[in-house]
Formats: sequence, structure tokens, C-alpha cells
Amino acid sequence: MATTATDILESRILLYYCFTPIEDPVAVMLWQRTLCEQLGLTGRILISKHGINGTVGGSLGNCKQYTRKTREYPGFKKMAFKWSEGSAKDFPKLSVKVRDEIVAFGTPDELKVDANGVVGGGVHLKPEAVNKLVEERGDEVVFFDGRNAMEAQIGKFKNAIVPDVNTTHDFIKEIESGKYDDLKDKPVVTYCTGGIRCEILSSLMKNRGFQEVYQVDGGIVRYGEKFGDQGLWEGSLYVFDKRMHMEFSNDAKQLGHCKHCEAPTNLFHNCVNEQCRKQTLMCDDCASNPATAHCGSEECAQVGAQVAASSG
Ligand SMILES: [Zn+2]
Ligand SMILES: [Zn+2]
Repeated sequence: MATTATDILESRILLYYCFTPIEDPVAVMLWQRTLCEQLGLTGRILISKHGINGTVGGSLGNCKQYTRKTREYPGFKKMAFKWSEGSAKDFPKLSVKVRDEIVAFGTPDELKVDANGVVGGGVHLKPEAVNKLVEERGDEVVFFDGRNAMEAQIGKFKNAIVPDVNTTHDFIKEIESGKYDDLKDKPVVTYCTGGIRCEILSSLMKNRGFQEVYQVDGGIVRYGEKFGDQGLWEGSLYVFDKRMHMEFSNDAKQLGHCKHCEAPTNLFHNCVNEQCRKQTLMCDDCASNPATAHCGSEECAQVGAQVAASSG
């Protein structure tokens, strides 16, 4: 294929994952690292015996070549790449690593994958099918947030249950706690940003007796692309890059409130305490004053007061 000026001048980011058995993750890691180096791509790629999860950026032409070459690996043939505006500058380095898990749920031996993906996961629902399920089954349908609780502070599906998790590691304890046992015979729709976390979460839930589990295919991103703010999604989407959040339209509801003064805000700031740094929703006013730029814990409030006193 010929290289065009656009291919060289424009840059893109690729987001992708694939669950497929990988017999030799180290070999795949070395191949991927070499491929990215040859194409001048930067970003972060994780490989485990269950598959691959990556975000890389570079010139449009080199990204195209990357997708072609990567699909040459038999298990990756059907991998869907999500193209996004942005450039390699968003990721200064290249990191390609082998891990026990491509998403850290702490269940590397429980997760089973075959050539078709995760074995025993929730039924994939396209955005239209999500709405249809809710139309047909009404309030019986429960949305179950598959992200960290913090992410749901600024946006979630209508009436969703937000489990008490700081990281994906907390999910097992949470779904085994008994708190959600009344959902075990209800239709439960799990969702996360792009779908990868629910591939795993939905299978872990089914293994623990949740009978009717679904997952939003392509996650909130695909649902939002289809229905914007006119469907069952409400608010902003937390994203793991410099933007911190995004909206699907100007009609997005504002769900987030400043931890300190309750003013509406969608923006997370790090706690002023360098030992904490917890991402906390704060309005610009509260975030710009060290005395209020803390996460809410007593210890961090004290550190904030000290910083304010020494700088004031
Ligand atoms: Zn405030
Ligand atoms: Zn703190």
C-alpha cells in the first residue's frame, strides 16, 4: 500500500485488546516490542497467557502498518482496533511487558480463554440491545458498574449499582460479600469504559452464581457513540489520559460535585498530600487553595492546612 502525505503528517492513537490463549507471552512481548520500535510507536502494551491489552500512538501510516502486522499473529486476526485522535507525544515511552493478567483482578488462574475469547463471560449486548433489554424487562434490569467507584462519581448508567472498589483487585471481595446476592437471579448488565474489564468481571460473577449476566459490547465508549446523552447513560466519562473526562454531547448531565463545597465539577485533582495524591473531585476554587485541596481524610486535611500556612 502506498504511503501518502497524510500517513506521515497525521498521528493517531490505537486502543485494543484481545482475549486469546498465548502459549509463549515472552515471545509475543519481544515481537511486539521490536515491531513498535521499528514503526516508532510509543505507548503501553501488556501481554499475558490470556491475551493482549495495548494503547500505542504514532503516525497514521505506521499505526496502519502496526494493525496489519499485529493481525498476522493467528490469535489476533480478529482483533478490533479503536482509532482515536492524538499522538505519540501523549505517551513519551514504549513499555511492553508480560504480566500474570492483562487487567489486574487477582484471578489469573480462574480466567479461562479460548480462541473465541473469554470462556463463560456475560452475553455481549450491542448498544441497541441494551436499550431493548431495558424496554422489555424494565426495572428488573440492573446496571453494575465494572469500574473503580471514583470513575462513577461523574457518570454512570441510570440507577446503576456502583460497587465499593478502589481498584479491580477489590471486585472479588465485593461480589463475594453477599451485598449483591439479591441480584443473582436478575438480569445484570455490567459495563466499563471500553469493555475489557467486563470481559473478566462478568465471568467472575457467573462463576459466583449470578445467573443472567450481560456486558455492554465496546463499553460506555461505544454506547455513547451510538446514543450520546439521549439514552441510558448519564454524565461524563472518566478517561485515563490528560483530559480526565469527556462528554458525549453538550447535553451531558453534570453528576459530579466538589468534595468540599458541593459546586458542580467534572474534574479530579490529586490530593495535596504528596503521600496520598488520591484523585478527588474538586472545583477550581477549592483545588487552588492548599487548605481545601485534600481528599477529605483528616490526615490530608492537616497536611493541607500546613501547606497553606507555610505558603500564606
Ligand atoms: Zn469547591
Ligand atoms: Zn489525601
